[in-house]
Amino acid sequence: MNWDVIVVGGGASGLPTAIFSARRGAKVLLLEASDTLGGSLNVAQGQLSAAGTKVQKAKGIADTPAEHLEDILRISKNTVDRDLVTLAVNNAAETFDWLMDAGFEMVDGHPVNGRAHEPYSKLRYYWGVDYGRSIVKVLKAQIAPEIARGAVTVKFHTRVKDLVIEDGAVCGVVAHGPDGAVDTFRGQNIVLASGGYAANPQMFEALNGVPLFGALAYPYSQGDGYTLARSAGAHLRGHDKYLSNFGVVLAGNTYPAKSVGRANTYPEQRMPWEIYVNSAGVRFIAEDNPSVDAREHALLEQPGLRYWILFDDAIFRAAPPLLYDETQASIAAKFDAKQANFFRADTLAALAAQAGLPVAAVAESVAAYNDAIRAGAADPMGRTYRPAPIVTAPFYAIRQQGTSSTSTVGLGINTELKVTRPDGSPIRGLYAVGELLGSGQLMGSSFCGGMMGTPALTFGRLLGQSLLHWGR
Ligand SMILES: Cc1cc2nc3c(=O)[nH]c(=O)nc-3n(C[C@H](O)[C@H](O)[C@H](O)COP(=O)(O)OP(=O)(O)OC[C@H]3O[C@@H](n4cnc5c(N)ncnc54)[C@H](O)[C@@H]3O)c2cc1C
Repeated sequence: MNWDVIVVGGGASGLPTAIFSARRGAKVLLLEASDTLGGSLNVAQGQLSAAGTKVQKAKGIADTPAEHLEDILRISKNTVDRDLVTLAVNNAAETFDWLMDAGFEMVDGHPVNGRAHEPYSKLRYYWGVDYGRSIVKVLKAQIAPEIARGAVTVKFHTRVKDLVIEDGAVCGVVAHGPDGAVDTFRGQNIVLASGGYAANPQMFEALNGVPLFGALAYPYSQGDGYTLARSAGAHLRGHDKYLSNFGVVLAGNTYPAKSVGRANTYPEQRMPWEIYVNSAGVRFIAEDNPSVDAREHALLEQPGLRYWILFDDAIFRAAPPLLYDETQASIAAKFDAKQANFFRADTLAALAAQAGLPVAAVAESVAAYNDAIRAGAADPMGRTYRPAPIVTAPFYAIRQQGTSSTSTVGLGINTELKVTRPDGSPIRGLYAVGELLGSGQLMGSSFCGGMMGTPALTFGRLLGQSLLHWGR
């Protein structure tokens, strides 16, 4: 059998590809390495952004794709692939409207202008009530009738490991099935939708130039699509655009490690009472800097992408809980249990030694912070919110690790979503969507809210609705 469309991966981008090509009459084969659909959305926040949606109109929010593009260029400082981003934002509203019409459950009061990343100028940022899983629920409901009528055939536990390439054109895939069987499937359009490489430590470090510290990504994000596309002559873009988040607390320091907590370092949600020092024991940012992008870029300059949040007992008792979803008591229990990356000691010197920080430098950083408060002088880092000095024993430190859950580097691609060679020529028969395009192309050197999930869904929809062609 020669399939009209073969989709490799049933996540945010592969599902819409399959759904919309099936609706247009294609015979679709969807090969999925895991035992379920939805991919990274099963673990992702799933925040989407789209301008000109029906929800915005109903709420009287005037917004356009041009303004969305303008915001992305501003936030990313013009480091995105403008053509791809234009294609994404121009078609994002139709994608979001489709999800809403199909029953997407949005958080009450959304859209908002920001939260996790640098804010947009308009309210165009939408979250599902059950994070990414709210999107998965809709996608599963949308593909079910296509599977039921035989337009889409899904094979689970089936991992594509090779492409069939004839006369420079991609015309099939070789997949390893559940029982060890190796099958070749031939098709007119091969769509790589197998997600990123953020669960593959070797590929992550090779492409991003930093180790994979956190085990935050979907375990099947092994980067297979990159290897497959490169075997057909594809090239990669965005190596210089790596950015980590502003840190999580890891379960241990053997990498990649699971995250066990996240400090609320967003001054708009919780003003900082603590100071942050790097591995040299030195402060590196005004902790109340209102720009999340500025904080993330400051962390990018720090050795090992890590820092320690320092505070004393008076701050611990007076300030709101530092970690999301935790109470004072539950945080205290982590220090009592000597949990990895939580440190407490009776003197600053002992704390620094325990945390592996240079004792003298920590003492100097804390003294400079305290002295400026006492003298009513300007903070050495320019911070203005300084509710209390760090003086009362015991002293505390929580180690934060910058890491990422998505892939920066992406496949070279044109606006028809055909994978290209280094000279820009398209590889016949081969398309790519989703995280395989890399955050570097869609968000540039900064994080732009919703600009991974939304383009993944949108480009999948566009492939299915109009960009793929087949004939029998
Ligand atoms: C923790 C986390 C939070 C995130 N938060 C956001 C957010 O708030 N906003 C945002 O825009 N983006 C966010 N993202 C990113 C976004 O969710 C992903 O980029 C997007 O879902 C990727 O879609 P995809 O279709 O490319 O890949 P996926 O959804 O990962 O789907 C790929 C599928 O391919 C399968 N597969 C892999 N290899 C093979 C193979 N060889 N053969 C067959 N099948 C294969 C996988 O099992 C998977 O089901 C987040 C990601 C994570 C991990």
